[in-house]
Amino acid sequence: MQFQVLTDRLKDGEEDQIDEILDPSFLDLAEDDELTVTLPVQVKGKVYRASEWVIIDALVNVPVTLHCAMCNHPFSKEIVLKRWVHEVQVPENGVLDMAEALREAILLEVPFFALCNGDTCHNMAEIEKYIHKEQSFEGHKPFLEALD
Ligand SMILES: [Zn+2]
Repeated sequence: MQFQVLTDRLKDGEEDQIDEILDPSFLDLAEDDELTVTLPVQVKGKVYRASEWVIIDALVNVPVTLHCAMCNHPFSKEIVLKRWVHEVQVPENGVLDMAEALREAILLEVPFFALCNGDTCHNMAEIEKYIHKEQSFEGHKPFLEALD
């Protein structure tokens, strides 16, 4: 999977629009249990050239499936990079592949601790019952798994 920018047609000081729908396979998450991306990644913004540099400035939307840190149920969320700015030197062959840089930027935005209902968990009531019964709290254990 490539996300290419052709720099030859970019003149110094001019800008081009970027409006890309990328297949999420470039995120290379097949081995990842915590994060799943099955829907396309959207990149919208501009690319411009400033002497020897190519600068990308774009809004990135990534629909993901995460697992709740409390109940471990999968839920959908959208990771948004409001402003992904990336600078690279103008390549000699006139082709930039931005996929790896974008992948890194997206993975940095994935929350370590995500809850299935915004700042709380849909299954909090169940979990609290369990916590009171057990009188113990093991932070990262998915409680509902233990209930099953
Ligand atoms: Zn939850």
